[in-house]
Amino acid sequence: MAEVVEKVYEQVVARNRGETEFHQAVREVLDSLAPVIAKHPHYAEGALLERIVEPERQLMFRVPWVDDAGNVQVNRGFRIEFNSALGPYKGGLRFHPSVNAGIIKFLGFEQIFKNALTNQAIGGGKGGSDFDPHGRSDAEVMRFCQSFMTELSRHIGPSTDVPAGDIGVGGREIGFLFGQYKRLRNSYDAGVLTGKGLGWGGSLVRTEATGYGTVLFAQSMLATKGESLEGKKVAVSGSGNVAIYAIEKAQQLGATPITFSDSSGYVVDEAGVDLDLLKQVKEVERGRVADYVSRRPGARLVTEGRVWDVPVDVALPCATQNELDGENAATLLRGGCAVVAEGANMPSTPEAIEAFQAAGILYAPGKAANAGGVATSALEMEQNAGRTRWSFETAEAKLTDIMTDIHDSCVAAAEEYGRPGDYVLGANAAGFTRVADVMIAHGIV
Ligand code: NDP
Repeated sequence: MAEVVEKVYEQVVARNRGETEFHQAVREVLDSLAPVIAKHPHYAEGALLERIVEPERQLMFRVPWVDDAGNVQVNRGFRIEFNSALGPYKGGLRFHPSVNAGIIKFLGFEQIFKNALTNQAIGGGKGGSDFDPHGRSDAEVMRFCQSFMTELSRHIGPSTDVPAGDIGVGGREIGFLFGQYKRLRNSYDAGVLTGKGLGWGGSLVRTEATGYGTVLFAQSMLATKGESLEGKKVAVSGSGNVAIYAIEKAQQLGATPITFSDSSGYVVDEAGVDLDLLKQVKEVERGRVADYVSRRPGARLVTEGRVWDVPVDVALPCATQNELDGENAATLLRGGCAVVAEGANMPSTPEAIEAFQAAGILYAPGKAANAGGVATSALEMEQNAGRTRWSFETAEAKLTDIMTDIHDSCVAAAEEYGRPGDYVLGANAAGFTRVADVMIAHGIV
């Protein structure tokens, strides 16, 4: 790493002790920026790098609520408003027991560059709680969401900060959060949250957007080699929102996804995933992957190792950060995998990324490949502001154009900075320069 970026990285580590995921995310971006700064030294002036790694604002709050047994539970809530150069802070809320300040910070940092890549007017933010919705009744989830929003509502707004879903936050939670926001503010600000239901301001294609976008990105990468997804075997991890719609789009494009997973294990279904059954188990029943296997002859549940042990042509990590390490990458490569597109945020460890790049396969980081979700959230905001609703076809055509644009910007930036085909450099350089140019225009703020 060039000296100037090394100094910034050391400062980040010293100032954010123990926040290893944040360090990892910053390191990846700064590594990519060395050639950018070498070519355009003004990006290192005015402490721009030091400012971009420092959140504009970070909130942490108590979330007390009463469970069904009458016990008082106390969770911790977070919202990080990282960068508002391009527009209102925008990024999801994650409800998962692993959530802490460092996880939210890494996600918020990634979000800045991802949102910039979409070319929409959205800044970067993220939030969540260590609340675990698994096994909680709808009434408990509602009471938690109401308490969480009681504090969060002081800090968000359609022109200030617009949260959305992420792990553990889907349509049900967004509904409870929006209901409480509306009640507290006495105002129907549809644009304050995205991922809303279709009957109250939601956008068609928002549910599908992240998974669809990830697969469209993989298709664009393959097209650079004159290939497509048609006939390819695909491994998908996770079985939530992103995984399900990645499987759907991959099937539409003629590929055969044969795996999915959750924290209890992974499923291999060599005949190809039965998507209707998976949706029934996961979206309707909120069940576990074993419930799929018990109803699907030929499918097997594996509780040891990782989904990456299955030989495939294409891997789509769609669960969580650091779910694919160097060893998993070596196994995938040995099995013939030639394409990796990340639906999750930072699912590959630095060792895994190094292995993919050394092997010269097509590898797309999440901040580019999964940007379709937030891009469609921005389309939802646009529809809310115009009090209009587009058809599925219109929204999907816009998503497809945005993913093609993101892909092409990454390719162009990688070429400009001398590393053709390096989507990590391309995504970081293209996202960074868009944000940095506006930060320079806004002065020292
Ligand atoms: P969901 O909550 O819908 O699904 C998450 C899936 O990943 C579940 O199958 C879950 O299994 C599994 N998972 C989560 N954490 C772990 C863990 N620690 N170990 C093993 N499995 C785990 O979330 P999403 O599909 O929305 O999000 C998935 C990823 O995509 C995240 O990285 C998120 O940040 C990213 N993303 C999501 C976007 C969106 O629009 N939703 C947009 C951009 C990125 P289990 O139920 O057992 O925990």
